[in-house]
Amino acid sequence: MLVFFNPTFEEELDASGNGFKAVIPRSLVKRALFTCHGHPLSGHAGRSKTLDRAKLLYYWPGMDRNTRIYVKACRHCQQYKPNQHKKCAGPYTPHNMTTPWEVMCIDLMGPKPASRSQFKWILVIIDQCTKFIELFPLTKATSTKIVDKVNEVAYRFRHPDKIISVNGPQFISTIYKQFCAKRYITVKHTCTYHPQANQTECANRDIKMMLAITPMFIRNGPVF
Ligand SMILES: [Zn+2]
Repeated sequence: MLVFFNPTFEEELDASGNGFKAVIPRSLVKRALFTCHGHPLSGHAGRSKTLDRAKLLYYWPGMDRNTRIYVKACRHCQQYKPNQHKKCAGPYTPHNMTTPWEVMCIDLMGPKPASRSQFKWILVIIDQCTKFIELFPLTKATSTKIVDKVNEVAYRFRHPDKIISVNGPQFISTIYKQFCAKRYITVKHTCTYHPQANQTECANRDIKMMLAITPMFIRNGPVF
């Protein structure tokens, strides 16, 4: 195998000696790009994320150009991804936060077709500061289960000061309200007609896209 010393910016900084990449022959470029973009674990990320992933492992001349063309031509992306160029002038909502997990955004996705273990719902929890996402499969979308998961995340990272959620019945229930009141968490609901204020809406769109593409991959096999 031919290797090439082509450190990324971070590797140059840490001076660890990492930075040797496998040189990919022309015939395998599409396969390498597939692992970085089209594989279910890669989730059809955009051009820059795909290129970053490729540069961590591989080298071939013309990587930037090949990646750009591959991502632009990806059939699944064209079919499922929304138009990112649509510009809309939404109202500006300032988010004041100082530390990660100070403001938590929470939403429920589903009901989806049940999995083998009867999971139908996905609970999405996002830290508004770092945009770190936690996903939990749920069999039932009850307030008790949601409170359990919020607790789990709070114990692992930090107790939130504020939770932003949609106006769903689970988030206006007594159990949920009591839980937040006991812990001095401010509850905020996003307006029904302005869901963009909830950070999870962006993540939901990406997750929906990945979930839609994955069964197609399993059914039809990889498309290089
Ligand atoms: Zn794609």
